[in-house]
Amino acid sequence: MTPLDEQDEHVRLFRSAVLRFYSRHRRDLPWRRSQDAYHILVSEVMLQQTQVNRVIPKYERFLARFPTVHVLASARLRDVVRAWIGLGYNSRGLRLWRCAKIIAQRHGGVVPDDVEQLRALPGIGTYTACAIASFAYGKPHPAIDTNVRRVLSRVLFGRDSVSAAVLRRAAARVFPARAARRWCQALMDVAALHCRSSPRCEGCPALMTCRFAPKVARALPRRPSGSAAPRKAAFAGSPRFFRGRIIRILSGVGSMPVARLLSEAKDGSPKAEGARIASLVDDLRREGLLRIDRRRRRVWLP
Ligand code: SF4
Repeated sequence: MTPLDEQDEHVRLFRSAVLRFYSRHRRDLPWRRSQDAYHILVSEVMLQQTQVNRVIPKYERFLARFPTVHVLASARLRDVVRAWIGLGYNSRGLRLWRCAKIIAQRHGGVVPDDVEQLRALPGIGTYTACAIASFAYGKPHPAIDTNVRRVLSRVLFGRDSVSAAVLRRAAARVFPARAARRWCQALMDVAALHCRSSPRCEGCPALMTCRFAPKVARALPRRPSGSAAPRKAAFAGSPRFFRGRIIRILSGVGSMPVARLLSEAKDGSPKAEGARIASLVDDLRREGLLRIDRRRRRVWLP
């Protein structure tokens, strides 16, 4: 066997093990039951910075409220922002609403299947564009997010990460064009179920072909069995926390005095947070997520 044959054999084994695993053990996620590009668009925007478990109920409620591009495009922004509460990063809701308006006006209400046209929409980067093109339309564009990047770097290079250019080339080499839709979702499941930051190699479909697996035992200290994983630091007090609180307060009223909003948003926080919250209110205004009448000193959701 030549080195090239060996490489091909390695890729072939890796691909078939991962796709087999996906057929048997894939996560049943609501957006995977749909090939409607609008549904995929909504799910991908929601998933950009929010965990799957939090997205599922929100996704279903959002689509019940805004079932088509046209319904979303003609909705009031304040209703979209309200529906977004609980997902965090409200500016994503704003960008999705703007996306829907552009799709309705320029694309006849049909989400484009072309990666460049998708990338021209607000808030749609390369990953999201490729995910929509491949998951909704089966186009051969590898959708590589942080998690897929981690799996590929480990399996193919035996490292936690490699440069973006190297990874792009490698991802294109292993990408099975005829299984575009399933391949990236399968890698996402490998990442979610096994290849987390602390890998769980046992039962991983890539185990036999993974160049990182032999390093795992000695590279990562084991926790005593039964002990819990360290919890992520709470995000209370972060800009995201206060932005969410500001939107939540405004969503319950028509409009309110700016001073009252600042005081309610600051509730229970140290005195010094006042200036920071005022500047976050101004950020939200600049992003178009809220409006302020400076003369009357009142604020509201558009
Ligand atoms: S074998 Fe281990 S390191 Fe390799 S992909 Fe699977 S979980 Fe990750």
